[in-house]
Amino acid sequence: MKLIIFGPPGSGKGTYSSKLKEKFGLEKISTGDIFREEIKKGSELGKKVEKYLREGKLVPDDIVIEVVIEKIKNLEKFILDGFPRTVDQAKALDSMVNIDAIIKINAHPEILVEKISARRICSNPKCDGNYNVADIRKVIDGVEYILPPLLPKNDMKCDKCGSPLIQRDDDKPSVIMDRLKVYEEQTKPVIDYYLKKKKPPFIEIWMSRPPEQVVEKIVEGLRKLNLVK
Ligand SMILES: [Zn+2]
Repeated sequence: MKLIIFGPPGSGKGTYSSKLKEKFGLEKISTGDIFREEIKKGSELGKKVEKYLREGKLVPDDIVIEVVIEKIKNLEKFILDGFPRTVDQAKALDSMVNIDAIIKINAHPEILVEKISARRICSNPKCDGNYNVADIRKVIDGVEYILPPLLPKNDMKCDKCGSPLIQRDDDKPSVIMDRLKVYEEQTKPVIDYYLKKKKPPFIEIWMSRPPEQVVEKIVEGLRKLNLVK
């Protein structure tokens, strides 16, 4: 089973891919993770990539393509997250492998802004505690969102270590809007490319419920396509 997942920042696609990995033994391929890993290792690739990222530039297609192809060429089961990001990357991927399905996570921007601005993380750098203070119950364009908060037991203190919770700088509404806009502009041509080709099939899911339920819907979609039992 070879999958691609698309979803705007804050749509939880990292979480869904991890759960699909657990369920079906898919290898989760995220270009962001690969680049971070290589930079940490100080490899040739890492050095190259770091230079682009430091200058705030996108890593060129040929590098991204090479890295991903190298990773997936011997894999039977994977989910791609953050790739393809351009039509050229999509074409390169098409020439290499048959993707079975594209999972597309949808969410209204106002929901993403509300949800991301409500994120709180533990202030202890060694702790990965994360929470969400938004209690979202609303209907937008016929989509009913029920997204309960994830609150710490003690008033704004981390359950794991007791440190105070803080908000990340890039989880502020203006920054979020910028990130959503960039995502929209980058992804639309790629989505349009696949829609026009009518292959592979899309599984479109709204991020309107907590992650477990979204994952259930994804699995249902995979089942309909006979990709899982
Ligand atoms: Zn903590």
